[in-house]
Amino acid sequence: MTRTVRFKNGVEVPALGMGTWNMGDDVSLRSDEIASLQAGLDAGLRVIDTAEMYGNGRSESVVGEAIEKRRNDVFLVSKVLPSNASAKGVLKSCTDSLKRLRTDHMDLYLLHWQGNIPLEETFEAFETLRDRGMIGSWGVSNFDTDAMEEVIQTGQGDGCVANQVLYSLSHRGIEFDLLKENQARQVVTMAYSPLGQGGGMLKDNVLAKIAQHHTTSLGPATPAQIALAWVLRQPSLIAIPKAGSKKHLRENIAAQEIKLKEGDLTALDKAFSPPRKKVALEVI
Ligand code: NDP
Repeated sequence: MTRTVRFKNGVEVPALGMGTWNMGDDVSLRSDEIASLQAGLDAGLRVIDTAEMYGNGRSESVVGEAIEKRRNDVFLVSKVLPSNASAKGVLKSCTDSLKRLRTDHMDLYLLHWQGNIPLEETFEAFETLRDRGMIGSWGVSNFDTDAMEEVIQTGQGDGCVANQVLYSLSHRGIEFDLLKENQARQVVTMAYSPLGQGGGMLKDNVLAKIAQHHTTSLGPATPAQIALAWVLRQPSLIAIPKAGSKKHLRENIAAQEIKLKEGDLTALDKAFSPPRKKVALEVI
């Protein structure tokens, strides 16, 4: 049932992962958040996405607690802030992140977005981390087509295995070009905020209507499940919805059972238009 995605270094992971932005911010939610992540791992999910930026390390601490006794079950992703992306900064940020994550290595380390430090310096630092076994691979986030071209121009582009970007029904710009270009370069696209951050997008009438015609092993489908199934239909793409509870986590897993029909896709294209020209990459 679970589709997998293979990185160019041969590592294969389930296409459905777990986001963690805002986790750790509210102490009263912490145990539910940890339970949600662990339920995901129990169900066979592997990718957990975090960043040093999220709650100034609080999200990484939640993840660290959730995975402490089961590191091998996880494909762990974190991100360095552009302001820390110098040779020295990358080493310090990664060391600090690993401490919070209670492990000695992460599987994928991303530059959170492009800043002022030359990409060559950041990528060189990533390669050093990889040589030392502190990371398994590296990539970028929020890189549009021109920025991905710069990655290639550095001559170090071969090492870049992923580009994490905004992608949901409400933000379809990457369908025009970036999605295909990533695929052609064997760069895995990681879709962030695939549920539109749980906001207005999920209240759309068309989504509600399509949901009425689908069921999963949990019962009638929900608009969120339709929105997630829609993102997950893309090949070479990992979606990382954030679920703060086991209930949402289970619903997201069950969304993988949904096969959208041609008519569903046409209706969704009408309600959430695909891009007809280049759209600058949107970010959150
Ligand atoms: P999402 O689109 O994943 O939406 C999360 C929201 O949807 C939460 O409010 C959550 O509620 C709710 N939700 C989750 N599952 C369901 C469900 N089955 N039914 C209804 N509501 C649901 O937004 P995020 O912005 O969190 O994006 C996902 C992840 O992507 C982040 O957590 C982060 O890891 C990453 N990210 C990366 C960025 C980057 O710059 N690289 C930028 C933004 C995000 P609840 O918490 O109550 O379950």
